[in-house]
Amino acid sequence: MIRRARVEVQGVVQGVGFRPFVYGLANRLGLVGHVFNDAAGVSIEVEGEDSSIEAFVHALRDIPPPMARVQALRSVDMEPVGETRFSIVESTTRGTARVVVSPDLAVCPDCLAELQDPKNRRHGHAFINCTNCGPRYTIIENVPYDRARTTMAEFDMCPQCGAEYADPGNRRFHAEATCCPECGPRLDITDPHGRSIACDDPMREAVRRLEAGQILAIKGIGGFHLACDASNKRAVQELRRRKRRDLKPFAVMTVSLAEAMRVGVIAAETGRLLESPERPIVLVRKHPRLGEQVAGEVAPRNARIGIMLPYTPIHHMLFADSTPRVLVMTSGNASDESIAHENDDAYKRLGELADAFLIHDRRIRTRTDDSVMQVAAGAPRYLRRSRGHAPFPVTLNRDTSAQEILAVGAELNGAACLTRAGQAYISHHLGDLDHLAAWEAFHQAVETLCRMLDVIPAAVACDLHPAYATTRHARGLSLPVVAVQHHHAHIASVLAEAGRDGPVIGVSFDGYGWGDDGNAWGGEFLVCDLADYRRVGCIAPVPLPGGDAAAKRPARTGYVMLREAFGAEEAALLAARLLPGLAAEERRVIDDMIKKGVNCPSSTSAGRLFDAAAALCGLCDANLYHAQAPMELEGAAWTQENEHGYYAAELSERGGLIHLPGAEIIRGIVNDRLTGVPAAVCAARFHNSLARSAVETCIAIRNNTGLSTVALSGGVFANAWLLEQMNGMLEERGFEVLTNTVVPPGDGGISLGQAAVAARRLSCA
Ligand SMILES: [Zn+2]
Ligand SMILES: [Zn+2]
Repeated sequence: MIRRARVEVQGVVQGVGFRPFVYGLANRLGLVGHVFNDAAGVSIEVEGEDSSIEAFVHALRDIPPPMARVQALRSVDMEPVGETRFSIVESTTRGTARVVVSPDLAVCPDCLAELQDPKNRRHGHAFINCTNCGPRYTIIENVPYDRARTTMAEFDMCPQCGAEYADPGNRRFHAEATCCPECGPRLDITDPHGRSIACDDPMREAVRRLEAGQILAIKGIGGFHLACDASNKRAVQELRRRKRRDLKPFAVMTVSLAEAMRVGVIAAETGRLLESPERPIVLVRKHPRLGEQVAGEVAPRNARIGIMLPYTPIHHMLFADSTPRVLVMTSGNASDESIAHENDDAYKRLGELADAFLIHDRRIRTRTDDSVMQVAAGAPRYLRRSRGHAPFPVTLNRDTSAQEILAVGAELNGAACLTRAGQAYISHHLGDLDHLAAWEAFHQAVETLCRMLDVIPAAVACDLHPAYATTRHARGLSLPVVAVQHHHAHIASVLAEAGRDGPVIGVSFDGYGWGDDGNAWGGEFLVCDLADYRRVGCIAPVPLPGGDAAAKRPARTGYVMLREAFGAEEAALLAARLLPGLAAEERRVIDDMIKKGVNCPSSTSAGRLFDAAAALCGLCDANLYHAQAPMELEGAAWTQENEHGYYAAELSERGGLIHLPGAEIIRGIVNDRLTGVPAAVCAARFHNSLARSAVETCIAIRNNTGLSTVALSGGVFANAWLLEQMNGMLEERGFEVLTNTVVPPGDGGISLGQAAVAARRLSCA
């Protein structure tokens, strides 16, 4: 029987070769009709045999093109009209914008083969791409996604490219960034003032300079990298000096997976992650026999290193010619600002950091840093979710609210989130929002999300902290405001990912978040669902002299914990032995502050407990970058994988809250250190102890509430050792464990939790 159906497909379906796929599929099945992109996605009408239409719809759902993600598919019957062929028709801008713009993807194998083929007309063309690969999110100005609405609009296609673009049988059919050496962007190499450097070939010149030990600013997909030869100790030291970055590890890019396996310990799952088209930086343990290809200065004092594989044609060409097999590739910025992405801005900000610029004239509309991931507790997890992943959405449990919500996140590791029709779209990583450039990026990201999704938010969700720039921004928007407690939002991000409502036991460990009692929280046990929470336990509070400033000085927190564990008198003696970096005068100031209670907020922070442990292990007495001490403590633990010792600590109860006694764990470290136990062993035992005590707390809560699902979130769960330990122990004791796998556990994922809580509260209101 002849039938006709209209099929509407939503999701990542534009700019990923969906229409040519539909065209080929319809022709193979002998169907007539047409397909076009509209602002809602892809719209198709097909006419033909009943069974063929059925097969057609199944194929759309089950075997779409590799880069497409079908989120919704709707089919309705129509009257047959008796067409004679299948055709692709012009895009329309009708309908509401429902399209999901694809993230940016690494150059595909077909394009790579052409890039390296001397007979191909795109041989050595640094901007080669097709419907299966290349820039997307970073070049788009508006939807629907077509060339006129991208930064490629400035380049007129030559007749040959135009013919490929118009041919439904071609891999570049409607590949919006299609170009060639004739008609595409141009590569150039310049000095730090933007003056072209005379040479035959900018790529060769760049390689020559890298080999000579220079530092290059290289324009990539989402912004600039600063690059140098990773084996060149002097070059790496110089990069550190110029970036004013003393110890924070640099990521490296290796020529191949085989080379990556000589730099790091890479199991099968990690290898797949490295080679995925999203090409994140993957954090791995350094190879025990790591040789001279990576100088010690690249990731000093750290057992782990971030590795990525080449993902743009420019990267592949750099490695094709160069002798260095490993390059340092660090974000083109100074300290923790967001990455530079516009040419003028790059010269201004990186002019004093780079010796030369490998640059081009394709604009980057939206900056995106590299995503950072790791494999922990058996799954790939985000530490930073950005290029290759933004702005792919998270599906909320159900359409909890008819109102669309903007969630503004917290302050560090900013990322905004906008909901539309039950999907939560999280922006790229924005950096620390106390930096002006990051704050500008925040505004641009919110504006881009609203425009791309065609959403005007009806409510805004923010943190409880009254002084965060994001909170003040939210309160200035003249929209209904939903303020969400920081640690509740972390746990809600896990619930949102899992499509769950709760209630669950939430374990939320991080550095700092504003508690509903005005105190500094950071080691919290909550009983919560999406709508609300009740605090049932915490790491025992300690005074934190100097408040926030303590985060920079683990030695001070170490001393405070010594006082808690041993009393003031003995603490002074112990500090002289175990905290040599802390002057007696500084100790007296702390004693005085605690005695008088001046500028001494009470803190339950897990992050500060890690700081204290790192300082008392003699590993780190000052945090020169965010979370340095905890990262070094974890790094040390990873050198003792078979260490199962722990320090016993007895839970107590105060004012209806279970207290996890951090000071008792610290006492264990001190006793070990005094008897000469190596720091790395103490580091492992500290992790084991915290995991064990936290699990005991969960058991106590289960006994009180009957709840047996635990959600783990907060920046401390970026710590793979702690996550694996807790996950394993909880499962052994019969808990179901939920963790973040779609957004980072830290503040980069918190806007998702805020949005989910707000959606739930507004739907109940
Ligand atoms: Zn391609
Ligand atoms: Zn061309």
